[in-house]
Amino acid sequence: MNILDTLISGGDVLLPDSLVKADLGLKDGKVAGVYSPGTAPTAAETIDATGKTILPGIVDIHFHVRAPAYPERGTVLSETRAAAAGGVTTLFEMPISKPCCSTPEELTRRRDHFSENAVIDFALYAAPGDLTEASRDKMMDIGAIAWKIFTTPSPAGRADEFEGLAFPDEADQLRALQLLADTGMPIVVHAESASLLAYFEDAAKALDPADAATHGISRPAICETVAVAKLLAMNMTAQAKLHIAHVTSAETVRVLRAFAGTSDFTAETCPQYLFTTEEDVAKAGIYAKVNPPIRHQADQDALWQAIEDGVINYVTTDHAPFAKAEKQAAEGNFPAAPPGVPGIEFILPAMLDAVAQGRLSLKRAHELICSNGARRYGLYPFKGALLPGSAADVTIVDLNGETVLSSATLHTHAREVARLFEGRHLRGNVAQTILQGKTVFKDGAVIGAQGAGEFVTPAAGK
Ligand SMILES: [Zn+2]
Repeated sequence: MNILDTLISGGDVLLPDSLVKADLGLKDGKVAGVYSPGTAPTAAETIDATGKTILPGIVDIHFHVRAPAYPERGTVLSETRAAAAGGVTTLFEMPISKPCCSTPEELTRRRDHFSENAVIDFALYAAPGDLTEASRDKMMDIGAIAWKIFTTPSPAGRADEFEGLAFPDEADQLRALQLLADTGMPIVVHAESASLLAYFEDAAKALDPADAATHGISRPAICETVAVAKLLAMNMTAQAKLHIAHVTSAETVRVLRAFAGTSDFTAETCPQYLFTTEEDVAKAGIYAKVNPPIRHQADQDALWQAIEDGVINYVTTDHAPFAKAEKQAAEGNFPAAPPGVPGIEFILPAMLDAVAQGRLSLKRAHELICSNGARRYGLYPFKGALLPGSAADVTIVDLNGETVLSSATLHTHAREVARLFEGRHLRGNVAQTILQGKTVFKDGAVIGAQGAGEFVTPAAGK
């Protein structure tokens, strides 16, 4: 009789503290054991991972598909298939939808929609909505993984997508932090100063809308830096579990350093800020527009330094697909273009390439895109580790393989607008992705079933 369902043999397994040559046993959707080579019990199926590296499945804590709204941009099915292809086994979906995911009703509706369609596991953020305890508590009962707010106002014409999510007023930001501090769950903030944005956007109206530099000038780093400084100052009073989304600039890194130790806060950046600069935006045009903007080489250098120093401990995708028609309609017009790039198939190969370049260790790279997130949201070691009892979510990579980013081979529905990383050759590729013990991606093909992904709540880590 077979004791194990699956044995992954012959590879190097990334454990929390070391990379070891070992065989990994899976049973009933969980890790059964890590064995010295040749000592594992019998298994129904053996995966030969000779020459490969076995990682805990990637957990992306910042993702947008916006479903069930806007299927023309990408659906839960298409974007979770893309995630599986990128080695991601759990994603955390942000609350921007239509209407906004800021009520118990909408959270329930999204949970059910994702459950029917997701190929990988998913968690859902909630926006704090009307800032009442009653609504907050209901959304916790449903299983929201954490909270999200913006310090910016709703973009023009999109009020329903940001209702209960956008809090440009500082008093409301403080109220939200205080209301949510008791929940013990992270509050992720998109931090840019509303009034400074309005000021600089107005000033940029005189500039050439086709020039990539116009976008950066209309949302300079000071907008981010000031908003982050104010939030961290407020959090000295609120003492919420704060997480600053997508840090882009050297100045903001200085602020994060200055406030170290004053409250429980963490910060993330994204591959678009670590691997590209304004020069790449100039080449890709409006397809590379993201908010906050991709900045200068000195900013990129400061972000890598912050990673080295432990000031920034999370790298997330901020994956945001758009329809080709929407991006095309704004060709040559940065102010009008929708912001966001699809990056879910880029993050892991990009980080593996950085490891190959000697920028950081494999262990550190994996912490940034997986285990630190699992820890921060209370899911570790169920997610983010390969220890007995952990979820059998496994990503098998070939560190010596190559990934070529090409719209011809991407799985995201937004492949035609994925121009920022187009054509990049990266050292390292994703060979196989396993969710709950079952293969969902192998040798370039997604084979995971629609609806196989499970809803992940804070209780999963308990
Ligand atoms: Zn985002």
